[in-house]
Amino acid sequence: MKEEKKLWDLFTKKEEYDPPILDEYERFPYYLSKSRDIFEPKVSKFLIENGFKPEYPDKKKFAVCLTHDIDVIKQRYLIYAFNSFRSVIKGNIRDALKYPTYAINKRNHPYWNFREIMKLEEKYGATSSFYFLALEPGEQNYNYDLKTLRDEIRYIDARGWEVGLHGGHRSYNNYEDLYKKKEKLENVLGKNVIGYRNHYLRFKTPETWELLSKAGFKYDTTFGYNDCAGFRNGMSHPFKPINLKTGKEIDIVEIPLTIMDCTLLRDYMRLDFNGAWDVTKKLIDTVAKYNGVITILWHNTYMQDENLEFYEKILKYCHEKDAWMTSGKDMIKWWEQ
Ligand SMILES: [Zn+2]
Repeated sequence: MKEEKKLWDLFTKKEEYDPPILDEYERFPYYLSKSRDIFEPKVSKFLIENGFKPEYPDKKKFAVCLTHDIDVIKQRYLIYAFNSFRSVIKGNIRDALKYPTYAINKRNHPYWNFREIMKLEEKYGATSSFYFLALEPGEQNYNYDLKTLRDEIRYIDARGWEVGLHGGHRSYNNYEDLYKKKEKLENVLGKNVIGYRNHYLRFKTPETWELLSKAGFKYDTTFGYNDCAGFRNGMSHPFKPINLKTGKEIDIVEIPLTIMDCTLLRDYMRLDFNGAWDVTKKLIDTVAKYNGVITILWHNTYMQDENLEFYEKILKYCHEKDAWMTSGKDMIKWWEQ
């Protein structure tokens, strides 16, 4: 019984209610958590051992939810000039000539790469979700005007991939802001938006879930730590969260985030290519063992050179392990059945 109580506290994330401190973005980080074995989905393990039997399309054993947050599309012209100069030095004249054209044709831009991403995923029988920011000029991290992406966003949707909302810095904690941004994206897309992730993984337990549910989202996929990969509440399956303040289930599905590119490779865990791959492989194998869902966040700005190679390595490995690789939207459709 004591063990079950511990698992319940982990599942509901009791420790995140009224924490004494938060990080600079008001997030509850892994370094504050009392649960130290982040690579073990303890709650999912318990459920599986007690008769929980998730099934996936075509009798697949586990699933991968592929997602992309679109923070940046444009770079400063100075950076183009620098890249162009670097290419000349490297003797790559073709690249050197390519950079100046970004200023003229937006589709030539290295981060205007949605079609390339879809093409790559298609090669492995996968689809994914793209979460777009809907910021206004002057808002923190404003980089692009959503309206200029109208055709592209509708193309992504028409191809069967998902367009979801990437909430801004305030959205996770502000209903008006959240709702306004959802409406803005829906106007551009021409239909309802059901999927969500907050920028910088900003999240408040359990209030953000309540706000998202109220705003009409069907699922969220923010719930992972920014400072470490793994299973934030011991779950490697989608779940309906509980609000410990009301004692009630919240009407939204969480597809918990497992791996974010910059957590592994740059900002937090600081792993090199091989170290990052070891962690990633271990997490994929763990999720496969428990017939779970592993959620991967790979930014469109991580689709170049070695980072692109890494993403393709994930797709290839999961394809070989016969995973169902899909978007949050299709995951939810299946989960609701
Ligand atoms: Zn973001």
